[in-house]
Amino acid sequence: MKIKNIKFLIILFILVFIAKSVDAKSILLKDIRYFSYKDYTRVVLDLSAPVRFSSKELKEKTRVRFFFDLKNTILSEKVKKQKTIVFKNSYIKEIRAGQFKKNIARVVLEFREAKEKRYFTLLHPFRIVIDIYGRNLNGKTSIKKTEKEKKQKTEKEIKTGTPEISGEKKYSMARQLSLTVKRIVIDPGHGGKDPGAIGRYYKTKEKKIVLDIARRLKFYLKKYTKLEVYMTRDKDVFIPLEQRTAFANSKRADLFISIHANAAANRKIYGFSTFWLNFTTDPHSIRIAASENASSQRSIWELKSLLKKITLTSKLIESKIFAKKIQYNTLKYIRRYYRYPDYGVRKAPFYVLIGASMPAVLVETGFLSNKTNELLLRSSRFRNRIAFGIYKGIIAYIDSLR
Ligand SMILES: [Zn+2]
Repeated sequence: MKIKNIKFLIILFILVFIAKSVDAKSILLKDIRYFSYKDYTRVVLDLSAPVRFSSKELKEKTRVRFFFDLKNTILSEKVKKQKTIVFKNSYIKEIRAGQFKKNIARVVLEFREAKEKRYFTLLHPFRIVIDIYGRNLNGKTSIKKTEKEKKQKTEKEIKTGTPEISGEKKYSMARQLSLTVKRIVIDPGHGGKDPGAIGRYYKTKEKKIVLDIARRLKFYLKKYTKLEVYMTRDKDVFIPLEQRTAFANSKRADLFISIHANAAANRKIYGFSTFWLNFTTDPHSIRIAASENASSQRSIWELKSLLKKITLTSKLIESKIFAKKIQYNTLKYIRRYYRYPDYGVRKAPFYVLIGASMPAVLVETGFLSNKTNELLLRSSRFRNRIAFGIYKGIIAYIDSLR
């Protein structure tokens, strides 16, 4: 009896130990957030650490389910309480989270019908972002246009006798036919608890500078064009990076421009640069992306595989053209008044641009780490001119589509 008791105690002890060690290593599904609109929904799963997960889709007659199995993960009290999130829109029915197995948390998205969706992960903190489109991304109209384009191409082939082989030319024709600009989203970076970069000499906050430039840009667009203009924020509030593109997608914006100012370790550097989303090996661009993403430079490298996936769905070539127009025209205008260095059109993996369905760029209007540049950015006249320069860039881009 005694020996049995001891054995029992030892086994119990081991079991408790195993349970504890599993617990200690478990990742927490902290929260399920969502931004839901008429024909677009973005769901964000917040996790306490990077998680291994698998996803699969189950199609039935009356419903389609999309599963995420998160390995070694348990639900937080908040998620347990949340249980089922029910949607009122036509395409997504609900989201449920449950402890599928002791160490596997399962998140199920249930749809009324099969819809276009994609997901990607973001770091620091680790989160899985799922985009669901209630409409078809390549809708009927664009298919029609493609046929029209094919016809035009054939006509051209007959006329010239040589088939169109230049990729650039073919592409430029496609863009003329398929792109129109009606709506634009301006995204003033940072806000609220996130001040962004801070001036080295006068402690100027990036969030204030960029909101002012964005408002002025909106003013010019409203005054001189018929574009619908939206801002991701029009006051000093914090908005998560993933919510900004979600907003642009929900508005079905045709262009997205995020406005920033940065700071460099080298205080001599100043000037204007425009970024489009892509992977880069340029240390300077990596450093800027890391600071704008509020992440480490190492995690930028981890984005490489994600970006390969993204490249397939984003309007990257168009974003690059948009970036060039912004860069060239802003500097051309600004240089009438100031000696302002051209820091170039660059590419970098900015979280805020990931998942945007439209041409999207991020401008770094100047460096708050340089004394002259910080003084310029503090001047309302300069900010007004930067805004007008960006406005001219947007117009030049739209004109290039005609
Ligand atoms: Zn910034």
